[in-house]
Amino acid sequence: MKCPRDGTQLTRVIIAGVELDKCHKCDGIWCDRDEMERLRDLKISEVEELLEQKYGSPSFHEGKPAGHMRCPRCGEEARLIEYTVSYGKPVNIDRCQRCFGVWLDDRELNAIVEEKKRVDKITPEGPLLALLRSIGLAFRAEK
Ligand SMILES: [Zn+2]
Ligand SMILES: [Zn+2]
Repeated sequence: MKCPRDGTQLTRVIIAGVELDKCHKCDGIWCDRDEMERLRDLKISEVEELLEQKYGSPSFHEGKPAGHMRCPRCGEEARLIEYTVSYGKPVNIDRCQRCFGVWLDDRELNAIVEEKKRVDKITPEGPLLALLRSIGLAFRAEK
């Protein structure tokens, strides 16, 4: 799979036992639907639970097509659509309408990580996991 933003070959990374695809050029992360579901069902630490309590049930709003970006899995036929997921402050994600995979770019990740740095004792993976999990939860109602 190639990065939807810059075309770089994505590399598999493992976070909490779940395989994600990362672009080492722009630091974006691709998350397949089944990976998202596994993340959503993970047991989370106390800290992430606190974050969830603090930021409440995430919700999402469908937005516009995400520019020229195509789904790295489905290719030319599927454009990514921008969504806004509310988790503390709203985070923009790009989601494929066909395979329901999600693209998170560096900017979006940094926004959420910065936000979460205010909470003590978080693990480096904690904010990312909590975010991905909350995105999974936001979309669960849709199924
Ligand atoms: Zn990239
Ligand atoms: Zn797709």
